[in-house]
Amino acid sequence: MKSQKVKTHSFFYCLFFICIGFFHSAQASQNNSSSEIFGNVSESVFVPDVSKEIFHLLKNRPELTIDHLSDKGFELYGPKGTIAFLRNNKINFNQVDSISNQLAATYPSPEEIEMELRSLTTKYSNISRLFSIGSSVKKRPLWVIKISKDVAVDDDRPEFKFIANMHGDEIVGRELMVRLIKDLLNQYGKDPQITNLIDRVQIYIMPSMNPDGAALKSRGNANSVDLNRNFPDFSTNDNKDITTGREPETQAVMIWETKRRFKLSANFHGGAEVVNYPWDTIGTDFPKKDLVKELSLEYASLAPYINSSTTFENGITNGFDWYEVNGGMQDWSIYYKKDLQLTVELSNQKWPDYSRIDYFYQQNKEALLQFMERAL
Ligand SMILES: [Zn+2]
Repeated sequence: MKSQKVKTHSFFYCLFFICIGFFHSAQASQNNSSSEIFGNVSESVFVPDVSKEIFHLLKNRPELTIDHLSDKGFELYGPKGTIAFLRNNKINFNQVDSISNQLAATYPSPEEIEMELRSLTTKYSNISRLFSIGSSVKKRPLWVIKISKDVAVDDDRPEFKFIANMHGDEIVGRELMVRLIKDLLNQYGKDPQITNLIDRVQIYIMPSMNPDGAALKSRGNANSVDLNRNFPDFSTNDNKDITTGREPETQAVMIWETKRRFKLSANFHGGAEVVNYPWDTIGTDFPKKDLVKELSLEYASLAPYINSSTTFENGITNGFDWYEVNGGMQDWSIYYKKDLQLTVELSNQKWPDYSRIDYFYQQNKEALLQFMERAL
């Protein structure tokens, strides 16, 4: 079904690019179900494309995922056969910068993150609770920490959430979340802003939605599926808010969100430095455009390196204006769950030298706290 997740205008493109249509049909014939194609990110490249010609050529192909469009080009992900398809069509590409194993080895493993979260929630059990909302493909628990005064009580105070690392190879968000959790817990009763937040908001933080991808240093989960293209999308024919056929990580977040009443949230990525506001999936104005722009500007203005972007004015962008995303978590959570969500791209480098993580945290700390306060 999901390969039909195509808008009407993409049919128009298909007519134009019928010469390259063989790729889609060749792929479909290799799969029993076409749903295996959509969001599959087995192969990845960087396509240099200053004129954006290739971008316009490929952007509506449902089996391909475009990410981090810039004036230099874009990242392109797709199923096995994508690279052969590019070669056959004489489209130039480079290998995506591979993450050096040496550098990656300096980052904690998903299991070390789990141990850290366990130890923190044991130490601060009066204001924190660790629980899993499901399991990844490789059966890793999907950990969420709740931080709040009277943490065991589920009451009427506003609910807020952060989710990071849904793309496994975008690791900075996970590290920032662990640092934020530590600060929240050990500054409670000391720092007035943090104390006020924990007293008045029920804070939920999921440092890693894709621990398998983090372990594999891959964008997709262990099934090579892009979780940020795996949610229901109100603008396509995959628009039923049902979990059937989706990845376990996506299902876990969907079910969890259905049980809660989040009003504000953010999800964190890497590969660019910008605050992205809805919609991602359609070009018409978001009903609360002024509010989401204001929230984005506020975040960016408190994160100096994002605000001083030379690529994005004031460090913010409308999602669709940047590039269209179908099946993303941001638009799903707003459209189906009335949970207002921004997407924050934290770092141009997906795995910066680990020693730079503290710099990124310090640059984002005020913005993170202020954004949480907006839940009030
Ligand atoms: Zn991402």
